[in-house]
Amino acid sequence: MRYRHSTAQSAEYLRLALKRMAQQEAGLHPASYAIWYEYVAGINPALQAEIDALLIGNARLNDETTYTLYGRYVADFDAKTALRIGDSVSHLVDQVSETAAQAGDQASRFGNSLERWSDALVRPPGTTGPLAPGVEDILRGTREMQGAISALQARLEESTHEAQQLRHEVARAREEALVDALTGLSNRKGFDLALAACLEQTNPEMPGPCLLMIDLDHFKRLNDTLGHVFGDRVLTSIGQTLRANVKGKDTAARYGGEEFAVILPQTPRGGAVGLAEALRAMVAASRVKRSGDKEALIGNITVSIGVADYSAGESAMDFVNRADRALYAAKMQGRNRVSLAQRPQSESVK
Ligand code: GH3
Ligand code: MG
Ligand code: MG
Repeated sequence: MRYRHSTAQSAEYLRLALKRMAQQEAGLHPASYAIWYEYVAGINPALQAEIDALLIGNARLNDETTYTLYGRYVADFDAKTALRIGDSVSHLVDQVSETAAQAGDQASRFGNSLERWSDALVRPPGTTGPLAPGVEDILRGTREMQGAISALQARLEESTHEAQQLRHEVARAREEALVDALTGLSNRKGFDLALAACLEQTNPEMPGPCLLMIDLDHFKRLNDTLGHVFGDRVLTSIGQTLRANVKGKDTAARYGGEEFAVILPQTPRGGAVGLAEALRAMVAASRVKRSGDKEALIGNITVSIGVADYSAGESAMDFVNRADRALYAAKMQGRNRVSLAQRPQSESVK
């Protein structure tokens, strides 16, 4: 649980947070409340330090900064913590199931030895006549021990099985945390992780990486005229097109709302523009069914795409921003087209 404060304590934080929220330009929305609550409660030092730095000289937080802070220090923190906890649980479960399997093996070996001994006790080879006094007791004890070991072994096997099941569940939850439910593509978090991993492995000798930012054209109008349910079907259909055409090392993601992104770690600029053009043409040629109406196939669905090829040393944010600016240029040029990003200015000065 992230907030463990009593009602009285949290009411006090609410009062303090409201006072701070009222002094900003940003609206009094939940994102704003979340950052100010954490600020006044003193539970998020990194957030606190950044707000303090931003507020130097009577500055006020606007909506954009507030959302950025919320995303970076509150929402993102939760997602990262969830992933980290998932990793720890997986590790723990692996250890437990290994120990249980080893203990099970040992118990089974001991059980086998007891069985051999008890056979020998009942009638040692080459002997006749009654059993020696006390042997009956040893025999009974040995059999009880054997029973206990079998029960223990069964319990350990069960625990191993449960641990493995838990491990699969953790792995599935971990994957789900990175997948967009509507389209099945990577979600924003998955995109951020894939892009960070891709940029860690860039090699100036090799082509790529390239990035595509894809945005549906006039989607608001489409939602307004044909409804949100149909809008969602269009998003699902684009998700299918991307999944079918973006494979291997490449990652397709739903970046947000009606915006998608494709990371191409080893594709040169020409190849990236080629793929963007192919995707654009596929979407433009596609028809999406209206639910409950088999006849009505809606066309005229188009996307605009910005393509950027990575410039050595550039941050993930700058890389995305360049692709975004190219996307904006494609919109300005009339939509349903692909636009290639300009190389960074620092590079053209060199
Ligand atoms: P442009 O060509 O300039 O991109 O215009 P646009 O209308 O696509 O862009 P705008 O940003 O004005 O509107 C985006 C719309 O996308 C608004 C919102 O209703 C819709 N949208 C965002 N996410 C979803 C979603 O998950 N489902 C549906 N049905 N609509 C969504
Ligand atoms: Mg749009
Ligand atoms: Mg958009």
